[in-house]
Amino acid sequence: MNISTTSAQYIKGVGPDRLKLLKRLGISTVQDCLLHFPRRYEDRSNLKPISELKEDEYQTVKGKVLSSSVFSTRRGRRIFQLAVGDDSGKKLYCLWFNQPYMKRYFTEGDTIIVYGKAQKTSRFQIIHPEYEIIREDSPTEDPIHTGRIVPIYPLVSGVNQRTLRAIMKHGVQQYSRYVQELMPTNIRARHHLIDIHSAIKNIHFPINDRQASEARRRIVFDEFFIHQLALAIRRYKMKLAPEGRAHKIEAESEDEFFKALSFELTNAQKKTIEEIRNDMASQRAMHRLIQGEVGSGKTVISAYGLFLTVSNNHQGAIMVPTEILAKQHYITLSNIFSEIGIRVVLLINSMPKPEKDQAKELTESGEADIIVGTHTLIQSGIAFKDLGLVVIDEQHKFGVQQRALLKTKTQNPDIMVMTATPIPRTMAMTLYGDMDISVVDELPQGKRDVQTLWLDSSEVDKDYAVVKIELKEKRQAYIIYPVIDESQALRSEGAVKMYNKLKDEIFKEFEVGLIHGRLSDEEKTTIMKDFKKGKIDVLVATTIVEVGIDVTNASIMVIENAQRFGLSQLHQLRGRIGRGKQRSYCILVSDAQTEEAQQRLEAISKMDDGFDIAQEDLNIRGPGELFGKRQHGLPELTLGNVISDVEILEEARKEAFELISDDPSLSQDRYKALKEKLTETFKEKFHLGFVG
Ligand code: ADP
Ligand code: MG
Repeated sequence: MNISTTSAQYIKGVGPDRLKLLKRLGISTVQDCLLHFPRRYEDRSNLKPISELKEDEYQTVKGKVLSSSVFSTRRGRRIFQLAVGDDSGKKLYCLWFNQPYMKRYFTEGDTIIVYGKAQKTSRFQIIHPEYEIIREDSPTEDPIHTGRIVPIYPLVSGVNQRTLRAIMKHGVQQYSRYVQELMPTNIRARHHLIDIHSAIKNIHFPINDRQASEARRRIVFDEFFIHQLALAIRRYKMKLAPEGRAHKIEAESEDEFFKALSFELTNAQKKTIEEIRNDMASQRAMHRLIQGEVGSGKTVISAYGLFLTVSNNHQGAIMVPTEILAKQHYITLSNIFSEIGIRVVLLINSMPKPEKDQAKELTESGEADIIVGTHTLIQSGIAFKDLGLVVIDEQHKFGVQQRALLKTKTQNPDIMVMTATPIPRTMAMTLYGDMDISVVDELPQGKRDVQTLWLDSSEVDKDYAVVKIELKEKRQAYIIYPVIDESQALRSEGAVKMYNKLKDEIFKEFEVGLIHGRLSDEEKTTIMKDFKKGKIDVLVATTIVEVGIDVTNASIMVIENAQRFGLSQLHQLRGRIGRGKQRSYCILVSDAQTEEAQQRLEAISKMDDGFDIAQEDLNIRGPGELFGKRQHGLPELTLGNVISDVEILEEARKEAFELISDDPSLSQDRYKALKEKLTETFKEKFHLGFVG
């Protein structure tokens, strides 16, 4: 019996119509159905004698139907009423409005269980209770809607709890024993995991809290374990691969590189460079994630790697998400490398064709040592002579596929990915369990002096006044809007509209510029150049300035509708100022209505550590939001939560990595099912193949 191919229609009680409804919940097979887990439970197991009912509490009563009737109110509403009695000798009335047909369902003398909020008028009554009739010939011997711990499922309109719960009960009864047990007994024993059949049965219909939590733990463990196994295998293969490039390190030429820098490296930069040196000296390919706040100086770190690979006669490439950033890196790297005879080439889409063709030729012939580009680098027409190091900057802006593509341009390159998104440890472990991680936890100029304030939008005049003070000091300002055009629904004033107002009225004595994602790359570059040169005093922008822009003279940033940004994003934006020596100001403008929004804005005003902020963001918004839809590397977890289930995550991770180091190709018989599942789940996503 293969439940992953058996239609859910085979479940008792599911006909073509219900199947259609189930499909809207993403359920088409029996397996989908069993994996549709409850969102929460309600404990309706505690039976109360009617004589002990409490007013306004949700309670469960078991009794017999004494009588049933349908009557009309004076306003013409039809009410179905059921009188229920129990051993306590008291009566409870159950009422349903406008459902006279319900009378058909009940017979005097039926045993029923009802659940709901008891109201006391002259008598105890429950309006629209959950109910269940207990008959000898009941399809299921135990109650499922009342009188027990009851599962509450995620629903879509057209499906109700009662119907879905009944389907689930049948599904579990008929098919849970056919769920494949992937986990061998040795692993189960080691981690006290219950068998999968009980887990599936009990996660849907537990008889007590303990059963529910054991079931959940087992399923969460599985989710993490499978994902960590995939990471462990990738990791193993990388460590194994002997075909990487062992770079020779020559102190003399290295000195030349360090001398070409215009500043002394920070300790964090030195430490990271040391780690990269070790990685690259080894025959194994490097696979390193460099995490560091905006402005922590990651570019020179990548420059060191690029230098090392070039001085060993390979090429290096650095891929960035935007053309502005590509050009910026191109300038920075050219400055460093022109002195030591290393040729840096820019390769972006907006280049005129002849220049682009030339850049392609240089890349292919190997005359270009370092190639700086956007996703142009992964296009099909681009070939390298011998690409030794791949650097991916601001990696969170790229998908897994794009990252993987760059690796296909060469054989076993060293890989360095850089991110300014400070990823909390648990998250890094889930996402990048197969990489080494360096943290650049120091800013070159020491702590940034940025003061963050939070103003109500009615005080907007005040912040324009503050901006003007800065402008008169010959500083520059950013004003950030969340969207380009005005969107009525979101009630946010778009950058374009505000730009006109700011330019013509509020800042009319200053030069105001506008930049947003819909401009051409050339227009964007021109505007950024003008801003950098000081030709523009106030730059009105969307979040496009979030990544990598460096204008040290900008000392103030106003962020409108700040509540619409995530904390990490606000922090990134704020990282654009305070880059010079002067104190800088970040003004968050918001009429945060909800308490949550207020909490967040207060948090960001006080916090200045990117990791703390990311953790806070993660707590508030969850991992999916934080990393966006693009982060395809996120495991698809139905139950597991990388924050609250971190202990299970760590346990699963440890087991997975140990297992792979013992038996890298999962060759033992008892791992057969696991191996099949892994191949099926991750083949496409990770280009996963087993060793041997
Ligand atoms: P990141 O990419 O980590 O956000 P960058 O590499 O763009 O940061 O560096 C930010 C700024 O700091 C750049 O202007 C760079 O020249 C400068 N910088 C980097 N390292 C140092 C250092 N050790 N001392 C002084 N300035 C530095
Ligand atoms: Mg950078």
